Amino acid sequence: MMDYPFFHVSHYIDGQFVDGGSRFDILYPATNQVIGSAPEAGADEVDAAVAAASRAFRQWSRMPAAERRLILKRFAQLIRDHEAELAAIETWDVGRPITENRSGYIPRIAANIEFFADFAVTHGSESYPMDNGYINYVLRQPVGVAALIAPWNIPLLQATWKMGPALAFGNTVVLKPAELTPIGTWRLAQLAHAAGVPAGVINVIHGFGPNSAGALLTRHPDVKLISFTGETTTGKIIMATAAPTLKRVSFELGGKGANIIFADADLDRAVAISLRSSFFNQGEFCLAGPRLLVQRPIYEAFLTRFQRATSQLQVGDPFDPQTRVGALISREHYERVTGFIDLARADGAHILTGGTDPVLPEPFAQGNFLQPTIITDVKPHDQVCQDEIFGPVVTVVPFDDEEEAIAIANGVSYGLSAVVQTRDVGRAVRMGSALEAGTIWINDFFVRDLRVPFGGMKQSGIGREGGHYSLEFYTEAKTICLSN
Ligand code: NAD
Repeated sequence: MMDYPFFHVSHYIDGQFVDGGSRFDILYPATNQVIGSAPEAGADEVDAAVAAASRAFRQWSRMPAAERRLILKRFAQLIRDHEAELAAIETWDVGRPITENRSGYIPRIAANIEFFADFAVTHGSESYPMDNGYINYVLRQPVGVAALIAPWNIPLLQATWKMGPALAFGNTVVLKPAELTPIGTWRLAQLAHAAGVPAGVINVIHGFGPNSAGALLTRHPDVKLISFTGETTTGKIIMATAAPTLKRVSFELGGKGANIIFADADLDRAVAISLRSSFFNQGEFCLAGPRLLVQRPIYEAFLTRFQRATSQLQVGDPFDPQTRVGALISREHYERVTGFIDLARADGAHILTGGTDPVLPEPFAQGNFLQPTIITDVKPHDQVCQDEIFGPVVTVVPFDDEEEAIAIANGVSYGLSAVVQTRDVGRAVRMGSALEAGTIWINDFFVRDLRVPFGGMKQSGIGREGGHYSLEFYTEAKTICLSN
């Protein structure tokens, strides 16, 4: 019998943990047991959170960056101190294997806060002495109250990726985690509170999107900027909602990355990288590479090895350290993902491995588990190769040469990320230049320096965050022209 925790999640508004609004259940994806409940914010809670953030902005925006840095560093240290607890919470929230959370995931969350706290005190400013003796210089100042809206797949990473720069550059925030994964962000708020982040600087409200907390927040007149990560269709709705009040937006949206394996790649390494880019977080990952493109001379050899390795991945109890593939976030999402497998079958594709539920003991037999699935005999324009499935389901398509690989890889509406596997440096450079994707990994996956721009092309987003790109989004640039 499993011991289930129960998380009584609350809003965090103006330095207080408050309930308010009706409550909704939180389910553990691996068993569909209720493991907590959270309140749904209505207009009153959203107004209170935005008002608190507006009041706090007056002090926080004027506080020297060095002082903000000290407070944010304490917050990050508390995240590090609670590594084991946060790793477990992320598994309760998402259903991701605990092993994935233990391999550097929580330090990465702390680093999101630390990096921007340091960056905000070290960045410089532009200055242009003119020929006529005038001097133009640029001030970067915080914008105001930021609405931060996060998806359910990597909640702690998303919350800190948005909070870190917003706060470090002097804004205050109202953060809304996804309704399916509210626990981690609520716990982060407790840690921020304990670290001495002043009341109103961080506010966390819970609830749904349409006709709920999300919609209320994005249309609020006192919210000045929105950083949103989620589905492309939701981004379009938020953009329309934000338009009448001309809010600044940064959108990180869906993806359908290609993982291109050339015949000269190191096969063992290619299989290892492909396992991660296909099945990390059960494939519920915007940066995943679910479209494998394999050069024809190694197509059979690669597929044999990849299929063997995939079928050996342990699926089940996310808290078992041997588990490599956890549960999908919800029953509804499971139905959506398996619907794509049914569609592929109906279209005559071949399910090389997976495509069915694993046989698991109770209580995991009630969870949203799916065997990692490889689909072959598909065409690049088939729906399974075009739509974001967001689950442990990948397609494999052969190609002949670079030109064909580029055409297939770019032949989707998304442009978030891609993986290229080759030992030919010249080819790596050519592919890096030709692929339409915001981030391209050559012979690796999911490694990133926080200074580089992060975001997507085409339907994968608007704008970039990271390093000085975050500075640009989260600050107003003011030009001062000084006469002599
Ligand atoms: P989603 O768009 O359904 O929801 C994301 C967030 O938006 C949630 O908090 C939700 O409550 C809120 N929301 C929904 N409708 C809203 C509305 N009308 N107004 C305001 N808020 C609203 O996305 P999801 O299903 O939670 O997450 C999966 C998606 O996120 C995938 O498409 C994935 O690719 C994408 N994603 C992208 C990145 C990236 O960096 N590009 C990272 C992670 C996830």
